[in-house]
Amino acid sequence: MPENNPATPFPAASLLGYPRIGRRRELKKAVEAYWAGKIDADALDAAAKDIQLSIARRLQDLGLTEAAAVPGTFSYYDQVLDATAHLGAVPARFGNLLNAEGQLDIDGYFTLARGTKDQQPLEMTKWFDTNYHYLVPEIGPETTFALASNRIVAEFEFALANGIETRPYIVGPVTYLLLSKASDDAPAGFAPLSRLEDILPVYTQLLEKLTAAGASWIQLDEPALVVDHDTPAAEIEAAVARSYEVLSGAAKRPQILVSTPYGALDGQLGTLAATAIDALHIDAFKGAVPSAAALAALGDKTLVAGVVDGHNIWRNDLAASAAKLDELKAAAGRVTVSTSTSTQHVPHDVTEEGQLSDDLRSWLAFADQKAVEVKALAAYLADPASARAAIDEASAAIAGRAAAAGVRREEVRTRTGSLTDADFSRSEYAVREAAQEKALHLPPLPTTTIGSFPQTSGIRSARARNNKGELTNAQYEQLMKDEIKRVVELQEELGYDVLVHGEPERNDMVQYFAENLDGFDVTVHGWVQSYGSRCTRPSILWGDVTRSAPITVKWAEYAQSLTGKPMKGMLTGPVTILAWSFVRDDQPLGETANQVGLALRDEIADLEAAGIKIIQVDEPALRELLPLRKAEQAAYLKWSVDSFRLATAGAADATQIHTHLCYSEFGVIIDAIDGLDADVTSIEAARSRMEVVHDLESHGFGRGVGPGVYDIHSPRVPCEAEVTELLATAVKHVPSRQLWVNPDCGLKTRGYAETEESLRNVVKATKTIRAGLLAAAS
Ligand code: GLN
Ligand code: ZN
Repeated sequence: MPENNPATPFPAASLLGYPRIGRRRELKKAVEAYWAGKIDADALDAAAKDIQLSIARRLQDLGLTEAAAVPGTFSYYDQVLDATAHLGAVPARFGNLLNAEGQLDIDGYFTLARGTKDQQPLEMTKWFDTNYHYLVPEIGPETTFALASNRIVAEFEFALANGIETRPYIVGPVTYLLLSKASDDAPAGFAPLSRLEDILPVYTQLLEKLTAAGASWIQLDEPALVVDHDTPAAEIEAAVARSYEVLSGAAKRPQILVSTPYGALDGQLGTLAATAIDALHIDAFKGAVPSAAALAALGDKTLVAGVVDGHNIWRNDLAASAAKLDELKAAAGRVTVSTSTSTQHVPHDVTEEGQLSDDLRSWLAFADQKAVEVKALAAYLADPASARAAIDEASAAIAGRAAAAGVRREEVRTRTGSLTDADFSRSEYAVREAAQEKALHLPPLPTTTIGSFPQTSGIRSARARNNKGELTNAQYEQLMKDEIKRVVELQEELGYDVLVHGEPERNDMVQYFAENLDGFDVTVHGWVQSYGSRCTRPSILWGDVTRSAPITVKWAEYAQSLTGKPMKGMLTGPVTILAWSFVRDDQPLGETANQVGLALRDEIADLEAAGIKIIQVDEPALRELLPLRKAEQAAYLKWSVDSFRLATAGAADATQIHTHLCYSEFGVIIDAIDGLDADVTSIEAARSRMEVVHDLESHGFGRGVGPGVYDIHSPRVPCEAEVTELLATAVKHVPSRQLWVNPDCGLKTRGYAETEESLRNVVKATKTIRAGLLAAAS
């Protein structure tokens, strides 16, 4: 038996993790001020400590008072980057970022996150099925590992000095390596998982330090065990067995909790049960309750039951969770209560949203409310009678929600219930193509942009002043119209063929529609971390969706009135609206998507009636929502594609439907993209140097397509020659009559100077290629 701190039982009630950006985004503000050189490292450290302490105190106030109940999930930027820092796994391309003591200090840490003049930052990827993005570690055969950060230990010591014993958190070794990519200089076929033996000693050393600091528990997060990988399951199983044999065998260590959020653990439960860890967390919200036999294998390990959803905002059905806990308790030894995932994916506190109706607020649970739910369920386990009142109150709220006005609208149900196949299809492409050619008279290689133009500080301050009542709606609208006029004139001057109005009136491409559709509400303080210091404020989709009035039509109509060239109507597609909102949990997502699809279909009809001939329906999140378990992918692709088709299939043959997608791993879902049946698809391609055109060619993609020629993710201006070269590559692989010319994505995050110059170079390059095509044809 290793030497442990006193064997404190695992807390009866705890959260798997908690938001760390601060209730008023204090961390974002401090970190960005530090980057801007406005505060120094000490001030940043002080701000971080304030947040850590207020989290710990808040959770204690909410009842999480047992030792190790407060999760030590603070991070300056990202939890995977934290593991990289602790392992000292700095990619060689950054040179030596460690200081004289072999530590990665805060500047080195931010360098990995943000890059340098010469080095791209670590790549960013979606964290499981959430909208959080982590920094992908780069591991090669030469990567050196040594404990290079003391932050987890220092944060533990800081909280302890303030009277609170937290539960330190770090991404576990198997997940760390499975989420890593092979570094650029690694030989072909190199698998980061092959470095397992080299990272385990660093973990062991961290365990020893935490023991010395007085930690009774550590949480090692292993979410990678709940999803499918290319690595064979047996190899992963061996890595899990080996990791936890080594770590539980450490001479000095805290008790070990392995957490497995974001889905069912399935086969790997047995592997973990066979190790000498002390507690295992399972996601019992998304995942089913494991079989009694599987649970029995846990022996005297504590089962931490994640029965409260950490990932969405709905109030827990405590009665249903209590029933699950009964089942778990009957089959396992000691059971305690937690969330299914970290609550970092939900806002802090619903009681701060006073503008929401009392009803809606009573249906919701943000992180703080989830702490209370977990506590109530722990009380239930100790004494069922003591939780009666809380359970009844939750049941009453949930029953009230099901019956509340707006949750079900019969007119919406009747409409979705009577859809037929015809509602999902347009005429054959050849027919549409001919009708559109007649209506639009576009040159070969038509030039366009993706929708937004730079959101200047003038635009943002006008919106803020309108919200505060300092500008009347009429004044605000006039300012937006002036902006639209400027953007239209600029595009005319630059010589673009298909124009956009620039989207100045939209705060966000999803929230704008949520604010204008029934069935949604928006929050004031409901920020969640998207990555680093970036936060989003997802809308809440709680009821049947209807469109009570046209949303975008007056702007599009005004913009069209300023030009003889076609003006693109601009809408956000159903999948993206769902992906970036908190969605209702009381019906399949596909049904909700069809409701949104129908609202957009009506908007498209109104745009057509207002004389708009081209309408773009953006679906940048189509790839993002693809389920991680392969078995679930086909069903997703079916409903997601269908909802887009439902939105767009009412359009006349002569109306050109565009879509826009925002990623370059095009190949994976090319059949689905084809299935959207859009007349023109614009897609990110500049950053990947036109990789997608190969996928398009081998697939035989037959409709219009605009692979991006201008990477809008950086202020860099592509020169004319560079764009010409990209276009030359494109015409080699895609028939020129299908080809469109456009940037990778919208321009709202860019400044005007670089945007204008870049857009000008795009037109010049297009003219060169067009001339070449003409010469070749004659
Ligand atoms: N039309 C949107 C824009 O240009 C598309 C944004 C996106 O794809 N994320 O801003
Ligand atoms: Zn985009």
